[in-house]
Formats: sequence, C-alpha cells, structure tokens
Amino acid sequence: MNRPKLELVSLRKEYGGGDVIAVDDIDLCVEAGETIALLGPSGCGKSTTLNMIVGLDTPTSGDIQIDGKSIVNVPAGKRNIGLVFQDYAVFTSMTVRKNLSFGLEVRGKYKLEIARAVDEVAELLGMSDRLDAQVKELGGSELQRVAIGRTLITKPSILLLDEPLSNLETSARLAMRKELRRMQSEIGLTIIYVTHDQVEALSLASKIAIMNAGKILQVEKVSTICDNPDHTFVANFLGSPPMNLLRGKFSAATDGSITFMKNNFSMKLESSSKVPTGLPEGFLTMGIKPESLRLSSEETASIVGTVGLLEPRGPEAVLTVEAGLEKLKVIVPSDCQLLEGEPVGLSVDYDSLVFFGGDSNRRIDLNLSGWAS
Ligand code: ADP
Repeated sequence: MNRPKLELVSLRKEYGGGDVIAVDDIDLCVEAGETIALLGPSGCGKSTTLNMIVGLDTPTSGDIQIDGKSIVNVPAGKRNIGLVFQDYAVFTSMTVRKNLSFGLEVRGKYKLEIARAVDEVAELLGMSDRLDAQVKELGGSELQRVAIGRTLITKPSILLLDEPLSNLETSARLAMRKELRRMQSEIGLTIIYVTHDQVEALSLASKIAIMNAGKILQVEKVSTICDNPDHTFVANFLGSPPMNLLRGKFSAATDGSITFMKNNFSMKLESSSKVPTGLPEGFLTMGIKPESLRLSSEETASIVGTVGLLEPRGPEAVLTVEAGLEKLKVIVPSDCQLLEGEPVGLSVDYDSLVFFGGDSNRRIDLNLSGWAS
C-alpha cells in the first residue's frame, strides 16, 4: 500500500482580503503511515487546513506537498485524499451496500471489482452483516462507519477526519474510537485527525499538533506532550484539570531562601545554603501540574492555603486550594479528610515545574531542583 508523506509548508489562508487570517503560515510534516491529531479550540483554523489539503479551498500562500511534490495545483478529484466530516455524508434513501458502492459506480468500475471492494470495506467496518440494511435504520455510530467506508472504498492514500465522532453519544464515541484504532492498524494510512477533544486526540494519534488562532504552537508525541508544553496556551489546554499557571517573580530573602511571588500568593522553595545565581529578572509564568502538588504539614510546606472545593473523580479527587488570590488545583485521594476553609499545606515536586517567559509565553529552561540542593 502506498503510504505517502504529507507536508504543509508556510501554509496560509486569508479571507475577506486579509481581514481574517484563518491559517497563519503553518508548517507540519505527517510521516508516511502516521496519524497526527490537529487539536485546538473551535475557530482556530483546523477545518480550513483540511479543506486546503483536500482541495476544497485554495491557499493564499505556502505549499502542500505529497512525497515532496506540490499538489496545490492538482484538482481535488485527482489528489487521492479522503475527507470524512462530522455530519455523516451518506445517502439516507439507500442501503449500506449502495452507499459503499456508489463512489466506484460513478467512476465506472466493473461490477465484480465493486462487489469485492464492498465486501472488503464492510469487513473492515465490521458491517458485513449490515450491507442490506437501509441507511435510515442505522444508529449514529453505524452511520459514521458507512461515511468512513464510502471514503475508504475509493482507496485514498491520505485520510482526513474532521471531528468524525462529535455527533455521537458518549458510549458510541468510545466504541468508535476503538474501531478507528483497529482500522488504523489494519490499513495503516497517513491520517490527519481533527478534533477539539484532547482525550480523543490522545487516544487515536501518535503525535499531536496544537493549534490556536491559525498557528500551530507545538507538535509533540502523545506520550510527552502533557509533561512538555512549549507554550502557556498548550499548558492551559491540555490535562484535566490543566496545569496551574501563575505569573509572578522570584525573590531571594536574606536567609538565602527563594520565594516565587504573585500578588499575595507565595511559594517558598526548599531552603538553600546559598542564593542561586541566574535568577530570571522580571515576570515569568510558572506551571505546576495538579499531580505535582502533595498535601503536607503547614510547617514544611512550600505553599500554604485553605481548603476549597473537593470534587471526587473515582479513586482521586480534584481539590481546590485557595492560596492568596490564587485557586490551585491539586489531585488528592478521594477519601482524604479535609474540611472546607481549614488551613492546608502543599509540597511541590520541583522537577516537574515548567516555566514560560517573555512576551511569547514560550517555555524557558529553568531547573529548580538544582538550586534547592
Ligand atoms: P475550526 O475548524 O478550528 O473550528 P475554521 O477553520 O472553521 O476553524 O475557521 C477558522 C477561522 O476562519 C474562523 O475565524 C472562521 O470564522 C474563519 N472562516 C472560515 N471559513 C471562512 C470563510 N469562508 N469566510 C470567512 N471566514 C472564514
């Protein structure tokens, strides 16, 4: 099977003569046979990007290349790229079989070839026993499978999925995620999967490209992106709950201890025998994952606050600790005995802290664990 590499090079799309920059000079490389999720909030430019790749929209500038060759001037029908939308693109007055075969019939394929392809795709979709069902009798996840099948039967070398599971109920969505993973491993296409749902992105893709306001902010492996956000937007977008982000300043006290201050919030670092050099000047943003905070005695704690809301989530709970004007999210065991309004101490795993600086809110390299020793 042909598994091409897809590259977007400084791809840009403006509407209204430049009033709207829907896609802002993005670069992305999807390796052969790879699945990348394009993840970002509504309106960030995901669908526009897919529309340009498939040929439904023309880029303002930049290039789209398949295996190093530009396809910008290739008509949509000749690109061999399949696109599945969230609204099931199916013919409701036909059977499943007719829906699947239609694309090949209009291409003038032989009956025997069509019948074989329909059987193959139906098996891949797990719908071999549903071929003669009327589409109007199908449920949401079956409809979406037919829509995917209609695209797959034309044997695209690249598959673009635009929020394909958004219209499904939770249970059907979970089942379809599993089905999609199975299909991915069986057909091994090069796939871009567009979603605003991070759980879906994390469960289906090997890499995630995070998009905001027309730009791709970070492309990273699924296994590392939650621990290595490159940008405050990414840190705030991923995780449930996301990282606590605090914009403040470091200051050194006369006893050599270091404190991170923001308004009347402060976080004391472990006592250090000497004031570390190289403290960043000015404001920066500190990211603390909710999993990196632990309840501890107030005397030894880095952060002291009061107990706020406790939201159980199975064996764990999300605790809000109010410290100064900040509300920190902390993962705690759900059976922990805490009373709202009582004082609470938090210790911090320094190794997992991340810092962002400058006007760009990009990650900066700062290792606190070295200072505290
Ligand atoms: P997403 O898929 O991430 O929700 P879109 O790609 O649909 O985002 O849209 C990106 C931006 O471009 C939005 O601000 C949207 O309003 C704008 N946009 C999309 N299509 C058009 C169009 N045909 N004309 C003008 N603006 C558009």
